[in-house]
Amino acid sequence: MFKKRAKKVFQLAGKELGGIFITSPENVRYLTGFSGTEGSLLLLKDQGFFLTDGRYTVQAGEQVKAFETVIFKEKWKALGRLINKFKVKSIGYESKHLTLDLFNALKKEAGTANFEPLAEKLDGLRAIKTKAELRALKKAAAIAAESLEEVIPMINPGVKELDLASELEYKMRKKGGESIAFQTIVASGWRSALPHGNATDKKIKKGEFVTIDYGVVYKGYASDETCTFVVGKPTAKQKNVYDAVKKAHDLAIKKITINRPLKNIDAAARNHIKKEGYGKYFTHSTGHGLGLSVHEPPVVSFHSKEKVKAGMVFTVEPGIYIPKWGGVRIEDTILANKQGFEFITKTDKALKSVGN
Ligand code: ZN
Ligand code: ZN
Repeated sequence: MFKKRAKKVFQLAGKELGGIFITSPENVRYLTGFSGTEGSLLLLKDQGFFLTDGRYTVQAGEQVKAFETVIFKEKWKALGRLINKFKVKSIGYESKHLTLDLFNALKKEAGTANFEPLAEKLDGLRAIKTKAELRALKKAAAIAAESLEEVIPMINPGVKELDLASELEYKMRKKGGESIAFQTIVASGWRSALPHGNATDKKIKKGEFVTIDYGVVYKGYASDETCTFVVGKPTAKQKNVYDAVKKAHDLAIKKITINRPLKNIDAAARNHIKKEGYGKYFTHSTGHGLGLSVHEPPVVSFHSKEKVKAGMVFTVEPGIYIPKWGGVRIEDTILANKQGFEFITKTDKALKSVGN
């Protein structure tokens, strides 16, 4: 599997390269199985070297089987030695990830070798998920949803956003999550108008929207889902805004069809919100890919150029954010498949009154 993935890296790079240097932790994990924080991979045409430091000798021995492990004291010297030993003339590198400092150090060690920035060329590497990846993504979503279900009765007037977030995070870990996937968002009242309102010590009040955007990591794979609740009975305006987002979300998901442009999904959500008169309050793209990283290709936005492919997993998360008033976001993670689509996240998204 790892050798096959390595081959794909060379295909995606597109140029005749002697070697490719992988440094982003998600790609390193995808290509080697290594889950630690210090690891990089030098791929040559028919072999590869996994580089890490002494803290990871045992872990690398257990996890990295497809490539030879090199334990280094100074990464750049070790890498330079390999490049010189195998007379690699051109090396592709992850230019979005490698820091300039490290790049300069590496260049000094690597003699006359040429370095080719790969920029977004490797973007598609992890876009199509395998069965094992889908199992992990589904399990992560299930752990998260079960945890939220248990926390919903806690959403009451007087409860702090932070208390809700920590309870939810605790439950997700208790149920087998390795870590939270990102800072848990609990945004109530006026704060629900902040698309990324991390939980604070604000207390929840009656009549407020409470947006919870949460995720957990299982076997390296992240979940991502957003539910918006109302504390008590919704007002007419709250209902109107919620319905607009829910309809946008449903229309967008219906557009998920293999070989159709991803941007159609965004357009379906955006056009509906515009039609309802809230166009200027939908301030972000409709979705993003999800896997080893919480945000990864494909992007689901009006400038997406790609088409939907079977095995892609991405979110659909339209929102309306009205400053000082509040907001709603509804997010599901979806798998595109030959039949159309399948929900990875399964929490019902009908408007729920809580705290009664
Ligand atoms: Zn989210
Ligand atoms: Zn998301």
